[in-house]
Amino acid sequence: MTDLFDLEHIWHPYTSMLNPLPTFKVKRAYGATIELEDGRTLIDGMSSWWCAIHGYNHSELNKAITDQLQNMAHIMFGGFTHEPAIELGKLLLKITPPSLDKIFYADSGSVSVEVALKMAVQYWTALNQPAKTNFITTRSGYHGDTWNAMSVCDPVTGMHQIFGSSLPNRIFVPAPQSRFDGEWNPQDIQELKQQIEQHHHSIAALIIEPIVQGAGGMRFYHPEYLRQAKILCEKYNLLLIFDEIATGFGRTGKMFAWEHAQVEPDIMCIGKGLTGGYMTLSATLTTKEVAETISRGEAGVFMHGPTFMANPLACAVALRSTQLLVEQDWQSNIQRIEKILAEQLTDLAQLDHVADVRILGAIGVVELTSSVDMKSLQQQFVERGIWVRPFGKLVYVMPPYVITDDELNYLLVQMSEVVKNMQGANANVLA
Ligand code: PMP
Repeated sequence: MTDLFDLEHIWHPYTSMLNPLPTFKVKRAYGATIELEDGRTLIDGMSSWWCAIHGYNHSELNKAITDQLQNMAHIMFGGFTHEPAIELGKLLLKITPPSLDKIFYADSGSVSVEVALKMAVQYWTALNQPAKTNFITTRSGYHGDTWNAMSVCDPVTGMHQIFGSSLPNRIFVPAPQSRFDGEWNPQDIQELKQQIEQHHHSIAALIIEPIVQGAGGMRFYHPEYLRQAKILCEKYNLLLIFDEIATGFGRTGKMFAWEHAQVEPDIMCIGKGLTGGYMTLSATLTTKEVAETISRGEAGVFMHGPTFMANPLACAVALRSTQLLVEQDWQSNIQRIEKILAEQLTDLAQLDHVADVRILGAIGVVELTSSVDMKSLQQQFVERGIWVRPFGKLVYVMPPYVITDDELNYLLVQMSEVVKNMQGANANVLA
């Protein structure tokens, strides 16, 4: 079913051009359904990597874009502003931590992380502390694929081996071990404490994904880690950056994951679900204090300005998507999904080749004891009419919030069958 031109000429994410993974050609998508060119339909378990929270082809989101199109698709943000950026900004400030007051729009999650890191460095430079340029983070993190975002991704599962010494050296501490729903082990914070005590003179910020470490392992950790980390950051003069690009917009059961710990960051990155998966848009939010300090510094300005910053189409659809979310009883809806995930997946933990099953909000993760053969597994999922894209040892779902009970049950029953059948022959280990 793979398109030959595509196979020969188009590079897909994280693939070889000599031995590319197969791709499935999509004709259209609507609600939680993806329709392939050959007529087969798949129930979506991925929300296009966390984004399509309201499902595909949503009439109100379509309308937000077509309405905006009548006025302008794009206009430069240098020297101009526009209603969609302003209205979106007002709404974002209502739903993000109260400490945050300034919004910098960017064009992808990775870029919003770059922006956050640059803000932190400019902040300390403005305060006459130019040595504070490095970053500390936890292992198993993921913050994007651009240069500095890569440098704070997990050094083993991330891309450090490939890019080696061309990446700046960051300070890594072990990933939090205390589970979200388990006991807090005070040992968890010790390494972070020691490293901060030792290196704080050279560290601008701690960057971390609150509560859920996404692409670095789909791990859910204890909120106390964030509370302790915040205390350390305050004591040793580090800014705290939360990367909420994956966790935002209700996915973990809270509007943003910081709410699980009630710890407010100095800088926060959002993206993905921001536009309901319609267009690429991200934002880096910060406090009045950080923004004004940067602005008082010698440079006097914040040095970033992407061409497509605050693209009006993207802002218009982000505004409507976020309105749609807050207008509905989204929390009960996430609880509905969480309940079904628990009902369907929990028993898989009893299988010998399953190491762990964990569920939080609208995220369900089955961690296997060895890495999966993605190609084989994906094929089996498609044959059963579901879209699940595993990686490493993880088979996981984060479906669109519009998924019905029946669709979700179907998705999970089929996924569970494949996982059960993996015992033995299909549990191929990838080199
Ligand atoms: N941070 C996190 C936590 C992410 O999950 C991602 C995307 N997987 C990014 C940053 C990068 O976002 P983008 O792919 O839009 O650049």
